[in-house]
Amino acid sequence: MKLYQVTLIPGDCIGPSISESTRGIIAATGVQISWDVHDAGIPAMEKYKDPLPQQVLDSISKNRVALKGPLTTPVGTGFRSINVALRKEFDLYINLRPAKSMEGLKSHFKDVDLVVFRENIEEFYSGIEHYIDAKKSAAETIGVVTRSGCERIVRAAFEYARKHHRRRVTIVHKANILKYTGGLFLDVGKNVAREFPEIECNDRIIDNMAMQLVLNPQQFDVIVTTNLFGDILSDLCSGLVGGLGMAPGANIGYDAAIFEAVHGSAPDIAGKNLANPCALALAGAMLLDHLGESDAASRIQRAIAEVVKEGRNVTKDLNPDQFVGTTEMTDAIVGKIEAR
Ligand code: NAD
Repeated sequence: MKLYQVTLIPGDCIGPSISESTRGIIAATGVQISWDVHDAGIPAMEKYKDPLPQQVLDSISKNRVALKGPLTTPVGTGFRSINVALRKEFDLYINLRPAKSMEGLKSHFKDVDLVVFRENIEEFYSGIEHYIDAKKSAAETIGVVTRSGCERIVRAAFEYARKHHRRRVTIVHKANILKYTGGLFLDVGKNVAREFPEIECNDRIIDNMAMQLVLNPQQFDVIVTTNLFGDILSDLCSGLVGGLGMAPGANIGYDAAIFEAVHGSAPDIAGKNLANPCALALAGAMLLDHLGESDAASRIQRAIAEVVKEGRNVTKDLNPDQFVGTTEMTDAIVGKIEAR
């Protein structure tokens, strides 16, 4: 049997516990992974005085696939987001965030099946920002959007739609106000769409999109948008299907891919055995799919769907009245995989 080498960054706060859960869930499928474990963010600052040590970068360069637990970013001061730094370092220009309804999840909607393609490098996440003077009387953030950046993310969304037999791609923008950055994204998007005549293409202005998503999310299929809008919309989409605890994500480039949960490090529940392990485990399933282990990936997805549907062994975010801990929910998922 093949042995895969994968980098693992456990993360901080709830990160290490849900990373451990994901390792256990993947191991239950029988896929053999040798995990190259490295700290980043706060744990790396404490150990090495460097939030992104060179060995982390070397490991991802070598293995080209990583699983990452959430990393806390200090607010206002301190080091910049390691999540953003990793995306830039490896040019992970696709942030792929699926949101799919599961039976048993408390949610206002059924039958939601969306995929958000968020541009992951450019615009307001470029880190070009400063105060204009020493008195901090104003601040500027510069959002740079390039033609090539727009083109490759929109093309990735259409290629995904073609490969997965999706019917429609919706381009989300604010081209009415951001006439240059938004205008460029929309213009390039419409041009790329012409290369995929079998896939319907429409567009929505971001504010209308937010309303439409909470009124009638089933009308959407694949969504492609710029960095900041994609960040916000994908959290919104996770709320349509049971919340952040169920939302996986992938950061994909030409040379590397990093899989993670959409959610952050959840300091409010850290160390309490309350974290839902599913978001990172579903990201683990996406990782297996990426490695070509689609059968193992589906087994994880089905096991999670069964545990959630039964509702007896789920964490507090899914059932506040009757819940179990992270470890017990993990055991239930592992049990389902092993029973198959
Ligand atoms: P968060 O996603 O950590 O938490 C938001 C809410 O969702 C909290 O109430 C939390 O308890 C809950 N939640 C999150 N994950 C959960 C899970 N698995 N199970 C149950 N409940 C869960 O967002 P935040 O509080 O805004 O951010 C905390 C830190 O995480 C910040 O430093 C932020 O920068 C960082 N962050 C990191 C990533 C990443 O690593 N990719 C992503 C987002 C935020």
